[in-house]
Amino acid sequence: MVETMIRSKGCLTRCGIVLSAILTLASLAGSAAGQMSLRDIARQDGFEWLIGRWAFTASEDQTIQMEYRWELDGHMITIDFALGSYAYHGIVFRQVAQDTVVEYGADNRGLSVQGVWEKAGQKILTKTQRTEANGNTQHMAIYLSAVADDTMKVEVYPLQDGQIAAEPLGVMEYRRQPAAPEQKEPAVKETTFKIGSKQWQQDVIPTSQGDLQITFIGHGTLMFAHNRKVIHVDPWNRLADYSQMPKADLILITHEHGDHLDAEAVAAVRTEKTQIVLNQASADQVPGGIVMKNGDVRSAAGISIEAVPAYNIQHKRPDSQPYHPQGIGNGYILTFGDQRVYVAGDTEDIPEMKDLKKIDIAFLPMNLPYTMTPEMVARAARLFGPAVVYPYHYGQTDPNALVDLLQDAPTIKVRIRELR
Ligand SMILES: [Zn+2]
Repeated sequence: MVETMIRSKGCLTRCGIVLSAILTLASLAGSAAGQMSLRDIARQDGFEWLIGRWAFTASEDQTIQMEYRWELDGHMITIDFALGSYAYHGIVFRQVAQDTVVEYGADNRGLSVQGVWEKAGQKILTKTQRTEANGNTQHMAIYLSAVADDTMKVEVYPLQDGQIAAEPLGVMEYRRQPAAPEQKEPAVKETTFKIGSKQWQQDVIPTSQGDLQITFIGHGTLMFAHNRKVIHVDPWNRLADYSQMPKADLILITHEHGDHLDAEAVAAVRTEKTQIVLNQASADQVPGGIVMKNGDVRSAAGISIEAVPAYNIQHKRPDSQPYHPQGIGNGYILTFGDQRVYVAGDTEDIPEMKDLKKIDIAFLPMNLPYTMTPEMVARAARLFGPAVVYPYHYGQTDPNALVDLLQDAPTIKVRIRELR
């Protein structure tokens, strides 16, 4: 098996395949109950000391930074190695069937690395094959050991025909560094937004470019405010009197159904300056909008917008047409400073969700028969791992069901807001 791995070309596709396989398994099997995680093994063998940030100062202006992190609930270690502009990124995981621990990695100079991790007494031994951009390969053996609580010794040896050379290429001692601040779910301040006697829940979330206010109007309807810009998503007069609502800099329409496209509500908040982004099927009812198709990326009203697919696979009308056929409706990803917000529209847990990157906040629809069951929402969330999920468009479904279903995914926080 190791041989085939080493013969296989490059790491990128393979790592991708392995990674998506792990994610698929995780989403199918929950927490892979009963399977020993890499963390369990490291704990058992006394190698947990490795996890953390380490630094080695080679000379005054050269400090090698190395970080080993648990990921995927301890089933994987990710490695970040940096020296100035040089960067290596690797993943280490257990190939359960072979009972081997393997490393795959790549750097930003075209090097790919494949290796096997073993226990060698009190040390960790990694035997790696390193293939440079020009095809040259090198084999190395690297011992990692704790010489003190705060010191890690790294010994690098040439490896020839499986034999570790007598003379090391280098020996370095790394010092443990304070842990980097944990990546946290965005802090949130819960407040209310009022117009006259009506009020709605509002969350205020700091971004790198000022606060983002999210107002939960109801059903699939939201209002965002950021940098003095007001964004209405699927404004609907049944939920609010839009003649009283703040005028829009940007209006987003996910699709043409009556609970999402209300031409009167759009007209009520539209000004000369308002930009409207919608799908093709909504364009007849709302002239002068910008049509975006699934996959389109653009900016409008100074906000970066990605249109992504939103459709049903399982849930269909009696005539066997999906409630939302593929290619018609949009979900939208909006970027507010360092926060990426995904408003999914009316969709199920479609495979394209695996391609969503760095989503901080996700709105996922959860009512039958038109969108998803709580189980499907949980699966959807695991496909792209947002920091925060707000179930929305949830009708009579109990949104708390999602909290239970994502209990074993501590990096995904579920926030329930009043959206009936
Ligand atoms: Zn809907």
